[in-house]
Amino acid sequence: MARRTVTEDLNLNHIVHQQFDTAAKHVKLPDSLLKQIRACNNVYYVQFPAKVGKGYELIEGWRAEHSHHKKPLKGGIRYSSMVTQDEVMALAGLMTFKCAIVNVPFGGSKGGVKIRPRDYKRDELERITRRYTMELVRKGFIGPGVNVPAPDYGTGEQEMAWIADTYDTLHPGGLDNMACVTGKPLTQGGIRGRREATGLGVVYALREVFRHKRDMAKLGLDTTLEGKTVSVQGLGNVGYHAARTLQEEDGALIVSIGEWDCAIHNKKGIDISQLVKYRKRTGSIKGFPGTKTTKKGTDCLEVECDILIPSALENQINMTNMKRIKTKILAEAANGPTTPAAEAHLLKKGVLILPDIFMNAGGVTVSYFEWSKNLSHMRFGRLEKRINERKRLSLLDATEDLVDKRYPRGLKERLVAGVDETALVHSGLEQTMDDAYLEIREIRNKKKGLNSLRTAAYISAIEKVATSYIEMGIFP
Ligand code: GLU
Repeated sequence: MARRTVTEDLNLNHIVHQQFDTAAKHVKLPDSLLKQIRACNNVYYVQFPAKVGKGYELIEGWRAEHSHHKKPLKGGIRYSSMVTQDEVMALAGLMTFKCAIVNVPFGGSKGGVKIRPRDYKRDELERITRRYTMELVRKGFIGPGVNVPAPDYGTGEQEMAWIADTYDTLHPGGLDNMACVTGKPLTQGGIRGRREATGLGVVYALREVFRHKRDMAKLGLDTTLEGKTVSVQGLGNVGYHAARTLQEEDGALIVSIGEWDCAIHNKKGIDISQLVKYRKRTGSIKGFPGTKTTKKGTDCLEVECDILIPSALENQINMTNMKRIKTKILAEAANGPTTPAAEAHLLKKGVLILPDIFMNAGGVTVSYFEWSKNLSHMRFGRLEKRINERKRLSLLDATEDLVDKRYPRGLKERLVAGVDETALVHSGLEQTMDDAYLEIREIRNKKKGLNSLRTAAYISAIEKVATSYIEMGIFP
């Protein structure tokens, strides 16, 4: 008899639907409402010619709008040769759920352009980005009150600046034009703290996770991140900031890093700041002094560690490698890095899976701060900084007079110093991640027999989106 090979469905849209359906079984809502929440409302497909080199290339792009229960819709734009319509629709769905989990008042959206950025020159990328933006404008798929893109895999501040400028050119005099996109450079209406937001969100989430002694004891861990071994897949914006902060602020040991061309390992820890300088010089992490290089980037997924942080693309942990995953905690910084089969296997083994729709929500959280800042046209902290400093100073002066003693040199200045935009953004982000974790953890603990934080996170999201629809008066 021929042996049947079991193949896994790696279509992210199917996977997201499967995850949704698992959670939907735990909520009491009408079927039609659940169907509405699950479905992707619109997808816009564009194809346009762009001048590349001496000729023209046909470029394909999408923008999917998953849910309009809150407006504007929000979500990044990715540039990748692997982008498909299904992927963009799935990622738009994840945005809806992510925003609901962290209480950010947006519906979910996502965009994609099917190009490999490394294959294009700067001016070509600029032309492609501007033309894609024009296509979005043409059909009303971008605007401060309708749909607000942001960076994602393969895009960054530069692309967002081009998008903002193109939108602004097409809407002369529009006072709120800069709020049409987030993740912009600081001088173009960006906000301090956006660049590191997703990575930092991962760290804040981990700190909160580690505060729960009993949860950690189950994994054989204590409650400190110090000395914990961490492996990171993808040293992009998210992976880099998560790894650097865990190393420099929490004393964690980054034992492996995987990139597209190789993985590097050192059980005693890899210095992330030095590594990034090395990569800038040589073009790769390959051969970083003091580390062992192995051929495949995905090797980093299979090392023994306390925390594994996939921060690259989807479906990285699947049926082909799930049995070789040796982490205690799987912190999903990427969108959709774990397939359902792999998740089931790891949960059975007792791995704590921190789901993407919670873990990487730091990016959109700070995008929300940036969008609000753009609409208010004022930097956070600008009005109250001085008055708060003065108040604190008079309080400290009064206590000195009362006890007739002076504060040690420098301490008073430190206590008086007011908070700036970065501190406010970090504080808002930390609070958001902590609250969201407590919420989903409680749902998991309260539902009998539920051990998946992902399902708990979906339950939280579904209930919030449902409330929106019900209170809109659309559903009974
Ligand atoms: N692309 C990021 C994500 O997947 C950020 C989205 C945003 O800031 O709108 O969450």
